Amino acid sequence: MRTSFVGSQAAVEVLFNAKRGGCSEDCHFCSQSARYASDVQAEPLQTVESFLEAARAAHARGAGEFCIVVAVRGPSDALLGRVAESVRRIKRELPLRVAVSLGIMTEAHLRVLVECGVDKVNHNLETSRRHFPAICTTHTYEERLETCALVKRHGLELCCGGIIGMGETIEDRLDFLAELQALEPAEVPINFINPRPGTPLAEQSLVEPFEALRFVAMTRLALPSALVRFAGGREITLRGLQDLGMRSGASGLVIGDYLTTKGRQAEDDFAMLERLGFEVMA
Ligand code: SF4
Repeated sequence: MRTSFVGSQAAVEVLFNAKRGGCSEDCHFCSQSARYASDVQAEPLQTVESFLEAARAAHARGAGEFCIVVAVRGPSDALLGRVAESVRRIKRELPLRVAVSLGIMTEAHLRVLVECGVDKVNHNLETSRRHFPAICTTHTYEERLETCALVKRHGLELCCGGIIGMGETIEDRLDFLAELQALEPAEVPINFINPRPGTPLAEQSLVEPFEALRFVAMTRLALPSALVRFAGGREITLRGLQDLGMRSGASGLVIGDYLTTKGRQAEDDFAMLERLGFEVMA
């Protein structure tokens, strides 16, 4: 089914955590919330030169996409200005597609992103509408949906997914997929819970490997034309079964490290894609 809808191309992305920790929000899975005694030390926003260095490194590793992520509720003018300047310079210098993940946004924010050349905006729903209040109390599901709708209204690609294994039921997973179907995102990143010390979900169990594979397949069936990206937590959830994740319907990967956790070696991921007959998108 994947090959008939999206072919055998795989989209490979590198994440860049441009402002680590210190976030005002209380997402229960997140070690970047300032509310939890996690192992993440808050750091200020990186310099434009650091954005460029990270983008050059991503390109050199063979990624076609570079995603700039900041740990904030939403962007301040100063933060947005620096991200926009960095995106302009990256797009001038490198043939990368650039995505950003900047939290809750307004029309004015999105106009800036369109002007500076951003290709895609990530804003996850994370879980079902019913389960969301058990995961976050500082903003609402509706606020997330509004940002997603604004992204699309401004003609930018929407990247919207979530995290499996946060105590949701099977019905929640189906409802979550139904919400995504209504949004029609270009990309759906699927993460699996990787319990972070100090967060309210620190003791959460990992998702069973075959349950994880089943969710990847369900996502492909629910959103047949989307870029279904295999993202955080896949290494600890699937271990030696990651090939099966790509065979279950995923068509993209985050390579290298995630925002606060380590990924496996990029070479292992490229070897997996080659073994499975994927062609890496430039
Ligand atoms: S997921 Fe994002 S908004 Fe929520 S606490 Fe973490 S950085 Fe903040």
